[in-house]
Amino acid sequence: MSATTCDGCGNSLPPFGSVSLGSIEKGYRHLCLRCYNAVIAELSGIDFEHVDFQPVTLVDADSVPHEFRFFFRLLGDGIALAAHETKDDNREGYEFQVISPDPEGEPLELFRQLFEKMRRALAQKHLRRTDGFGLQFAELGIVRGRVSSDPDHDFGDQVPMLVIDGEPVSWERFGQMLMSYEGFSFKLEVYDKSEER
Ligand SMILES: [Zn+2]
Repeated sequence: MSATTCDGCGNSLPPFGSVSLGSIEKGYRHLCLRCYNAVIAELSGIDFEHVDFQPVTLVDADSVPHEFRFFFRLLGDGIALAAHETKDDNREGYEFQVISPDPEGEPLELFRQLFEKMRRALAQKHLRRTDGFGLQFAELGIVRGRVSSDPDHDFGDQVPMLVIDGEPVSWERFGQMLMSYEGFSFKLEVYDKSEER
């Protein structure tokens, strides 16, 4: 069972964005990101000010709203700011991240970078629904997305699930879309989510 309160400040832990710190031998402390960042800052001797960013709603190219929560996390050698889409039905959605090598840098500047990245991504659509043919690739030849897994799939640890345009797409469904290109060649490029290509 997961912890419900932060072992640092005693506040209730959010459903996402808590961190377990420790080891099997010494046991774990379950911390909110603010307390986690304070521990890492002290260990690393960094002057770090935690910031809680409020949820933001952005609309995509089809004017559909997407709500995001933000996670600000101190790494040993930098800071990461991530945005995860939250959906009522808990299905997977968009996820974005930016990393700065300077942990004492300006949090608002990092937020601005992430926000611009989110806006660029939401303005793009890689899939479109077509009459009679179901889901198709919108842009000839290029699909961007995230590799995820489907815990409800019988072979969930062996078969990926993709998240494209903020929507889960099963491996089988992706394969069906690819069949409109039978005989074509392809190139697959995999990169960190803090990158943009
Ligand atoms: Zn805490």
